[in-house]
Amino acid sequence: MEKSQLLELLSTAAPRAGKLVPSTSDVSFEEIGDGNLNFVYRLSTEATSVIVKHAPTYIRCLGPSYSLTQDRLEFEYRCLERFHAIQPGSCPQPYYYDKIKSSVVMEDLKGHRIMRYDLMESKVNLEAVRCVAKFAAHIHCATLLADLSESDQAMLLKDFENPVMVQLTKDYIFTKPYIAEDETNLCNPAHKDLVDAIRQNETMQSAIKELRRKFAEEKTCLCHGDLHSGSIMVKEASAKVIDCEFAFVGPPAFDLGLLLAHYVISYLAHCTKEHLNSEYLQLMLQAVELTWDEYTSNASTKPEEIPRFMEETLGFLACEILRRVIGAAPVADVKGNTSAENRILLIGTAILDGSQKKIHTVAKLIAECKRVAEK
Ligand code: ADP
Ligand code: MG
Repeated sequence: MEKSQLLELLSTAAPRAGKLVPSTSDVSFEEIGDGNLNFVYRLSTEATSVIVKHAPTYIRCLGPSYSLTQDRLEFEYRCLERFHAIQPGSCPQPYYYDKIKSSVVMEDLKGHRIMRYDLMESKVNLEAVRCVAKFAAHIHCATLLADLSESDQAMLLKDFENPVMVQLTKDYIFTKPYIAEDETNLCNPAHKDLVDAIRQNETMQSAIKELRRKFAEEKTCLCHGDLHSGSIMVKEASAKVIDCEFAFVGPPAFDLGLLLAHYVISYLAHCTKEHLNSEYLQLMLQAVELTWDEYTSNASTKPEEIPRFMEETLGFLACEILRRVIGAAPVADVKGNTSAENRILLIGTAILDGSQKKIHTVAKLIAECKRVAEK
């Protein structure tokens, strides 16, 4: 977006957002987006600043020939409103949504940093990790369809019927990575044999198919839909969640699986020989355990449902880590780090190929991560 368009947007937003939006006379702006889909601008004066997130008509990282509906930010705005209502301060405060300009104006989380960049520098605050796990549990619990009145159920389903973004996830997490000739895959050729084996492994392919079905069909509660370390901003023990355009009503294990997946990726990215005993690696495994414990003790999963929920969570975790190596959206933690990518492919395979060994608990996942780290 041009500066003039952004300024026009601010003047439309001002009556709703009041003093929170800078006056248009002396605003400076910069594009700060590092995501795959949209453009993000910070508009500031000396006194104040806001964020404007704009959805172009296409997928930013793939280019203008990959078109995508712009109303995705309507879901983001709606979801930020919900999160704010359920847990104030858990996400940037949404100020204004402009349908015509496909833009959301929201609070600037100044001083917070994307968690992924901290993890890449071996920095993690377990209180922030705890905060995100608790947040996920609260959001899921507060929006459980089974506990809502019929009219609230209908409203939640209507507000978050997000077919385009759900389809994008179906394609880019569960389908395209396993189609060898799909041109969007960015897999390092060094992994050809392992990736071919994954694509031809019938046990894994049917497990992935079943997880895709569950993702698309199970309607349990409101899910963030893209809850990973790149969608979390942290500042010491504080953690806030951003980037909610994938919000949908689905299985809570999907959010939890993605969240855990990126702690596992960070662990596997850091376990070089000289760092095997580093404090950071211990902390990452604690982050995995803590996230699981904090989530389950704050969520309403019944004890008898825990084993199945854990298995589903691990299944979604495996799909997420595999697609970050094989598919269209690699993560900065491991990009170009062939041995880390290899460890990720091994863990993903170990989880989804039940014929090898059964990894159906978080304790077994941690043991397997340690085993792969030493290879
Ligand atoms: P995309 O949908 O393209 O992935 P994100 O919502 O993830 O976009 O935002 C991209 C980047 O912009 C984030 O990684 C973060 O650095 C920055 N950002 C987004 N929202 C805010 C905010 N409210 N406050 C501060 N920075 C933000
Ligand atoms: Mg993002």
